[in-house]
Amino acid sequence: MAKYSSKINKIRTFALSLVFLGFIVMYLGIFFKEKPILMTIFMLLGLLSIIASTVVYFWIGMLSTRTVQVICPSCQKPTKILGRVDICMHCNEPLTLDQKLEGKEFDEKYNSKKETSAK
Ligand SMILES: [Zn+2]
Repeated sequence: MAKYSSKINKIRTFALSLVFLGFIVMYLGIFFKEKPILMTIFMLLGLLSIIASTVVYFWIGMLSTRTVQVICPSCQKPTKILGRVDICMHCNEPLTLDQKLEGKEFDEKYNSKKETSAK
């Protein structure tokens, strides 16, 4: 069975990896000291990546205000649902706000009709 993580956690991981990517790219820029143009490009790319992660973090904040807090029926801990279906942050129990989807197997594609091929 495929392992899912809750969407907020996924986005947070993405933002964190952007920060690391930014630092790595900026670090690579040091190797091009003799070529100021290349170094500047690397530094700018790194900076852009870090700015993008800040935007993503801000976006998480925006999304968090739209989440619904529920008590997970499986582990009895409070968790947040984003979209029609999501999973518990603590025990990965699939959760839904849509009565029609209740009891059905968890599927990310219920949230979006376009991203059927996305894993
Ligand atoms: Zn749970």
